[in-house]
Amino acid sequence: MRLSRYFMPILKENPKEAEIVSHRLMLRAGMIRQQSQGIYSWLPLGKRVLDKVNAIIRDEQNRAGAIELSMPTLQSAELWQESGRYDAYGKEMLRIKDRQDRPMLYGPTNEEMVTDIFRSSVKSYKDLPLNLYHIQLKFRDEIRPRFGTMRSREFMMKDAYSFDLTREAAEHSYNKMFAAYLRTFDRLGLRAIPMRADTGPIGGKLSHEFIILADTGESEVFCHKDFVDFDIPGEHTDFDSVEGLQAIFDKWTSLYAATSEMHDEAAFNAVPEGDRLSARGIEVGHIFYFGTKYSEPMGAKVQGPDGKEHFVQMGSYGIGPTRLVPAIIEASHDDNGIIWPASVAPFDIVVINMKAGDQACDDTCELIYAALTKAGKDVLYDDTDDRAGTKFATADLIGVPVQIIAGPRAVANGEVEVKDRKTGARETMTIEAAINRFVA
Ligand code: ATP
Ligand code: MG
Repeated sequence: MRLSRYFMPILKENPKEAEIVSHRLMLRAGMIRQQSQGIYSWLPLGKRVLDKVNAIIRDEQNRAGAIELSMPTLQSAELWQESGRYDAYGKEMLRIKDRQDRPMLYGPTNEEMVTDIFRSSVKSYKDLPLNLYHIQLKFRDEIRPRFGTMRSREFMMKDAYSFDLTREAAEHSYNKMFAAYLRTFDRLGLRAIPMRADTGPIGGKLSHEFIILADTGESEVFCHKDFVDFDIPGEHTDFDSVEGLQAIFDKWTSLYAATSEMHDEAAFNAVPEGDRLSARGIEVGHIFYFGTKYSEPMGAKVQGPDGKEHFVQMGSYGIGPTRLVPAIIEASHDDNGIIWPASVAPFDIVVINMKAGDQACDDTCELIYAALTKAGKDVLYDDTDDRAGTKFATADLIGVPVQIIAGPRAVANGEVEVKDRKTGARETMTIEAAINRFVA
């Protein structure tokens, strides 16, 4: 992508409305724009990061055996009347009427709808286990939307829903998502700690929130510090192995970890003082096992091997991609801007032409840009006629992991500089060496 032809509206000044660093940097880097309170557009640079986050989430959901579909944002109130949640949900739900005066709503979550899909076609235990997910916009009319897309009214959620015949099978489904979440957050460059959680309006029996430790987090959390170094399940994890997944779950729930709602002072005090971590955290994922809470009122039954009908056992599993993007920034930035983990960076490399219009600089940059693009890299080429200082500041702000800098003096020697955004380390090398480094 040539910056001169791209749309990346950088702000020079710090926006006053932004209270936390991720919100400030997302606005300054031209990633998002607020359209009305708590409702955002994702501008091209932000959209690239969001797409990469979603690709990782999708990859790990698929690995764990979940199947993607797409459900609508607008739902009929009838389904929610069946489950009893239409009245229970309160003012967070945006209620709408269509032209025939039928009550509709903008979905805050999809348990009812997916249960309806399930009951309309699944009749036998032989079709289980089943886990259906989508990545879709949600709307919750939050009392206090804030911190940009961290807590917005319209936001994206990956929500998965599992269906099983028995409680044991449902726990295996829960453990699959538990392990998939550990892997997902790790690939996003985050350390998320599963904490026992309250089941809230979703209701249910077993629930964990996945929390990232960050000073600006809205939740108060308490845990054993060893979680910070626990091993993440590897990519060859066998998701069909009941024992294997139970062992992962047991390990990751063996030490104290709880949010303030579930906090047990006495149990926490039993942890040796030097191992106690009390901090603030950001909830990035939340999983629930809730049994037959929806299948009973909505009549979602399957025939078991005993020939009898059984209400299906369900769980639901949410991750917030539009919250994850700022959460990643909270965890990874410096005074100059964002530092993206390579896995979600909007571009892999930025090529900076320090003197656009200078033939040798232009030729060198074009050569590098073409070679790296051909090799499958996402390359941003800063071909604008801005001052070099402005270009460096922009490159640091948007946090692309690698900068290749071509200035007249180096280029005259057939050389460029390669800068690592994270460490700030700079290396001068031949143009060929710079290309080869990234065309492995
Ligand atoms: P919170 O406690 O932060 O209000 P929640 O418990 O109501 O969130 P869940 O129903 O568990 O949210 O939703 C699953 C995931 O969706 C959350 O873990 C979070 O990542 C994301 N999410 C929920 N509400 C918002 C929001 N208002 N803005 C952005 N992401 C959200
Ligand atoms: Mg939650």
